[in-house]
Amino acid sequence: MKNLIRSTTQLAMFFVSQYLRPGGTAVDATCGNGNDTVALARAGAKDIYAFDIQKTAIERTKAALVKENLYSENIHLIQDSHENMGAYIKGNVQAVVFNLGYLPAASKEIATCGETTVKAVKAALRLLSVDGLVCITMYSGHPGGEEEKRKVLELARGLDQRIYHAAYINMLNQQNHPPEILLITLKRGVEFEED
Ligand code: SAM
Repeated sequence: MKNLIRSTTQLAMFFVSQYLRPGGTAVDATCGNGNDTVALARAGAKDIYAFDIQKTAIERTKAALVKENLYSENIHLIQDSHENMGAYIKGNVQAVVFNLGYLPAASKEIATCGETTVKAVKAALRLLSVDGLVCITMYSGHPGGEEEKRKVLELARGLDQRIYHAAYINMLNQQNHPPEILLITLKRGVEFEED
């Protein structure tokens, strides 16, 4: 078995894979270079919705899927902000992956930001099936990252414990702002009110 704790990315995808059933629906809320979309396809997701605001990210994700022979008509690459995911997906989603921050090897100016990320996480929770998982990898070392993390954790802490379980993983002895993982699962169905 791989030493999962050494890699936040592997650890996050390990959790996600436990919640995905073959043939299920998954969302990559920040597809970037496509690594997470590829991992979701490999983990057995049939329908995948992958979002990014940057055209470059959508192109890189498509190229990554094609390279791995995983690209299909069931994979929807959508250039739009993740808070709009509800306009594209009906529901019954088993896993939603957020990998926050900026696109590696591109402008650091274009990064996820707290306000829209919180809206997007709320949108993801609305689409989640019972026993589904939202997995958020957070980076606090770049401008705006700490504030974004604070807002997302505040949202998670405020979730009704009768409906959700939220868990938070941080690499306690690592220096220089290591990535952190937030996991939220839906225990039972809920009727949402408008914001
Ligand atoms: N998951 C990616 C991978 O496997 O390569 C890495 C994602 S990268 C750390 C963060 C991505 O979030 C960037 O590509 C950025 O363009 C995207 N992003 C920033 N704001 C966004 C938004 N509002 N909606 C969707 N994506 C956004």
